[in-house]
Amino acid sequence: MVPTPGKAKARDGVQPCGPHSVQLRFATGLTSEEYVRQQAWRSATLSHCPLHPKGGCGFARHTPYERVEPPGCLVARYYCPEGHTTFSLLPDCLASRLSSTLADVEEVVEAVESFDESREVLAELLRPDIGRQCALRWMRRRTRAVSALMVTVVGLLPSVLSGCERTLQAFRAALGATRALPALRERVADHLPYLPPPVGFGPRSTPRDRRPGPGQQEGGADPPRPET
Ligand SMILES: [Zn+2]
Repeated sequence: MVPTPGKAKARDGVQPCGPHSVQLRFATGLTSEEYVRQQAWRSATLSHCPLHPKGGCGFARHTPYERVEPPGCLVARYYCPEGHTTFSLLPDCLASRLSSTLADVEEVVEAVESFDESREVLAELLRPDIGRQCALRWMRRRTRAVSALMVTVVGLLPSVLSGCERTLQAFRAALGATRALPALRERVADHLPYLPPPVGFGPRSTPRDRRPGPGQQEGGADPPRPET
């Protein structure tokens, strides 16, 4: 289980002007339950600083950060003091920029794809705890993110996804995977720094819903600011 420092190569020699955080892939076939049970963040390692491959920058393991979901889930981090940059190693089972697992995001989007009644009814069924409007935003954030991702990855995997219907069921069949989103993270690993969440580590594609509203419980998905 070796992390893939996707953004690292592009950032070689670059000196960031302020403290910031970079997400890297922790390639693992573990489910979120297995990841938590095995405390697999302990085995997520970076052999050297992505910014300074030759060393000498004080690069070291940093305290892990805790996700809201799933409970008990930590994410390994490293810190480069010279580059003022924290690197977090996100396992393949977890969504980026959403407090969910990729499997949970896929389940929600699949429910939207197959539900015959209104989205309001489905939103209240899926999230009866946060009220209709918050539940709709919660659901919409997931469907929009996955839709944007699907459009982007078709161009990256034309031999696999060209002509594929933009549904998770069709993507799973084309990818030969039981879950499309974790499979996509592996298949487009080299592009993750520039791809939208929940699979990629780049910015969201949609300008709306950038900040969670009251009761949306989206905190904890991204790493907190580094302790400097
Ligand atoms: Zn460094």
